[in-house]
Amino acid sequence: MPGLEDLYREIILDHYRTPRNRGELPVPPARHAEGHNPLCGDEITVYLDVDGDGDDAIVSDVKVSGQGCSISQSSASMMSAAVKGKSVGEVRGLVRRFKSMMSIDTDGAEQADADISLGDLEALQGVVKFPVRIKCATLAWNTLTEALASSDPD
Ligand code: ZN
Repeated sequence: MPGLEDLYREIILDHYRTPRNRGELPVPPARHAEGHNPLCGDEITVYLDVDGDGDDAIVSDVKVSGQGCSISQSSASMMSAAVKGKSVGEVRGLVRRFKSMMSIDTDGAEQADADISLGDLEALQGVVKFPVRIKCATLAWNTLTEALASSDPD
């Protein structure tokens, strides 16, 4: 019977080999941001279509392009699948929840967001044991946050 670590490795490799929401969106109207992790050479560009204003706006479409290691690219694929169709408020909660899983201090948000389900993203929790890879796993999420803010009327 395969252990949890084998299952997690399978999920990560599946997203790496078959990335979800791969591509680009026309800018504008899409928001976008580019992220780099010079330590590993990872590059990710996140494109977002956001309908509405403020935290109730809906992320109606998301695309990701870029290249890099399996952790960075699978995290980007999982991120894209997790945020598509969610409200901006929900997406921000997911970002905080993911970062707290990665042991990045988010000002005590861990408790408030403890009920947010991470689904496949839990497969990345083993990365915490390898501090140099945490930047690989969080690159897509930092880039997502930048893309959200890139043309926010607020
Ligand atoms: Zn990397």
